[in-house]
Amino acid sequence: MNNDTLTVLAERLKLASRVLVVSHIRPDGDAIGSLLGLGLALEAAGIDVEMALNDGIPHSFNHLPGVEKVRKRVDGSFDLVVVLDCSDPQRVGGVLDRYSPPDVNIDHHVSNLQYAKLNLVDTEAVATAEILARIFPTLGLTITKEVAAGLLTGLITDTIGFRTANVTPDVLRLAASLMEVGADLHTLYNRALVEKSFLASRYWGAGLANLQKNEGIVWTALSLEDRERVGYPGRDDADLINFLSAIEEAQIAIIFVQQSPDCVKVSWRSQGGIDVSKLAEQYGGGGHAAAAGAEIHGCPYEIQEQVLFATKHFLENEQGKQSE
Ligand code: AMP
Ligand code: MN
Ligand code: MN
Repeated sequence: MNNDTLTVLAERLKLASRVLVVSHIRPDGDAIGSLLGLGLALEAAGIDVEMALNDGIPHSFNHLPGVEKVRKRVDGSFDLVVVLDCSDPQRVGGVLDRYSPPDVNIDHHVSNLQYAKLNLVDTEAVATAEILARIFPTLGLTITKEVAAGLLTGLITDTIGFRTANVTPDVLRLAASLMEVGADLHTLYNRALVEKSFLASRYWGAGLANLQKNEGIVWTALSLEDRERVGYPGRDDADLINFLSAIEEAQIAIIFVQQSPDCVKVSWRSQGGIDVSKLAEQYGGGGHAAAAGAEIHGCPYEIQEQVLFATKHFLENEQGKQSE
C-alpha cells in the first residue's frame, strides 16, 4: 500500500455520491466490523452508502451498531464499489455479480489477487479493520463511537483476542484509541469470542465427538446431518476451529464443514510458523500463514482423505525443513 493509492482513494471518495461496500461470504468479525466501520464512517461524512453481505449478519454479531442497514441484495448504480477483507472477488458471492470488477479492494491477505482497479493490500496488518482505522484520518473520515465498535471487533476477532503472533504494541495502541472514542472492549470481546448460543454449543459437541488426531494433526468434521440433528442455523463452524487450534498436540488443526452434498469448507490453523495458506491455495482457497481455508467440491469422504494425506505430507516436509 502506498501513499499514491491512498491519495487516489481520497479523491474518488470525495467525488462519490453513492457507494457500495461489501465483504466475503460466511462473514467473520473482521468482514462485518470493517464493513460497518467503513459504511458508517462514509454515512457520517454525508455519502449515500449501501452495505451488503451475501449471507447477512450472523447472530453472534447482531449487537453491532448499523447491522440493521446491511442488506443481502442491492440494486441500482454506484459510483464506487469497495470490497473489504476479501482476497478473491468470487468470495463476495452473488451480491457483486452486477458490479464487477470492483473499484477498490482493501485487504490484508497474503493470497490477495489484486482484482480491483485500486488495491490497498497490507499483509502486515492484523485485520482489514486495522488498515481502515489507520487510513480514515487521511481519507477525512471520523472514527465515531459506532465506527470504532466495528473496527475494534475486526481487531479482536482476527487476532483471536489479541493472541496471534502478529500482535504488536502498535496494534494494542490502536485498540486503545478505539476504546478512547467509546468502543466497549469488554462487551465486544465477549460477544465476539466468548459467548456461544445453546445451538452453537450443541454443534461444538457434535464436532468434538468426532475429534481425531494423527501425529501433529488434529481434525474433526461436521456433516449436514450433524447440523440438522443439533439444529445449528449457520453454515460456518461456530468458531470451533479456534478451540481445535489451541489443542497442545495440534501443530495443524483442520475442520471439515459440509456445505452441501458435494461441497466441503475446509479450515486449517497452524502453530510455530507453518504456512497453511500454501495448502489452502492447492485447493483454490487462500488465507494467512496461520489461518487459511478453501471450499472443495466432490465427495466429502474423499475430500477429507485427500486433504489429510496432503496435510500430513506437507507437515512432514515442514518439520524436515525446520530440523535442517
Ligand atoms: P476460515 O478458515 O474460513 O476462518 O478462514 C481463514 C482465513 O482464510 C481467513 O482469512 C479467510 O478469509 C481465508 N479463506 C477462507 N476460505 C477461503 C477461500 N475459499 N479463498 C480464499 N481465502 C479463504
Ligand atoms: Mn475475514
Ligand atoms: Mn481479516
